[in-house]
Amino acid sequence: MQLKSHSCLGRVLVCDSIHDEGIRILEDSGFKVDFKPLIKAEELISEVSKYDALVVRSRTRVTKPILEAGENLKVVARAGVGLDNIDVEAATKRGIIVINSPEAPSNAVAELVIGLMLSLARKIPEADASVKQGEWIKNRLTGFELKNKILGIIGFGKIGYLVAKKAKAFDMRVLIHDVIIEELMNQVREVGGEAVSFEEVLSISDFVTLHIPLTPDTRYLIGEKEFGKMKGSAYLINTSRGAIVDEAALVKALKAGKIAGAALDVYEEEPPKRKELTELKNVICTPHIGAETVEAQRANSVIVAEKLIKLFKKG
Ligand code: NAD
Repeated sequence: MQLKSHSCLGRVLVCDSIHDEGIRILEDSGFKVDFKPLIKAEELISEVSKYDALVVRSRTRVTKPILEAGENLKVVARAGVGLDNIDVEAATKRGIIVINSPEAPSNAVAELVIGLMLSLARKIPEADASVKQGEWIKNRLTGFELKNKILGIIGFGKIGYLVAKKAKAFDMRVLIHDVIIEELMNQVREVGGEAVSFEEVLSISDFVTLHIPLTPDTRYLIGEKEFGKMKGSAYLINTSRGAIVDEAALVKALKAGKIAGAALDVYEEEPPKRKELTELKNVICTPHIGAETVEAQRANSVIVAEKLIKLFKKG
């Protein structure tokens, strides 16, 4: 039997629990990996100088003192989308590269959007709760089909694109709005969508789904004025970031029948404090589970492992 021999590419400390596939890939390609998913900040400060790279998920905060103590640190990798738990500015100042895996959860989120649309259209959460309460209210649960309904997608990036493709398989008409739509026309044609203005998405769609980042420009993008433009029979789906929607205005719109309902995976504050929103019957709520699939978690760890290998092989 031939034994694998590698020169050590570097030392990696994995500080949070990540899918073991990524750890295996790192080890197989010659990294020496230590896995300490419960490591505390003080211990990390005293040990970090031994490592060339840190891999974290959400638990570990990679603060300035940790980065300053990491005299051999070259890369900080976040197995996930956001970089909120990493002091990116301090890392950049020290020449430490920060990487993440924004592409990992796209399919998981897109599938959740389809699930939420079906849940709204067929009242699946209400149907489930009624049977479990011993009721048989079949005739109060008449829903509608997605076929031939109009889906409006705001933000046609990684997730918006996948939502469009999947919606087409349900025979929906797909309207697409994006601030850089001219650059995305090939993909719009590929998915059989129609590029439209922001106003058109709001006023024509049966479902409006948001797939944009939260920035100063998109904060409260959907508020009272926008709800006023939507159809009374329309539904809003937000799996992006809570503050893209003005929740107080959403409550008003739902109560006044300005729109028919909403499905939310994200909230202005998480967990959501606004009971008047989450207790409404025409709202379906999930606790930010967009990326919570086995496949997305595996992809997070595999993608950052592959990025680390590429960076260290390049030197
Ligand atoms: P992306 O960067 O691939 O795409 C975003 C798109 O939005 C881009 O094409 C951009 O041009 C467009 N855009 C930006 N501002 C816009 C505006 N004002 N109007 C119209 N279009 C605009 O992002 P993505 O990976 O598709 O992620 C989309 C969102 O999903 C992000 O907010 C992300 O944080 C969120 N997300 C949520 C979960 C979850 O667990 N629920 C998981 C992953 C991502």
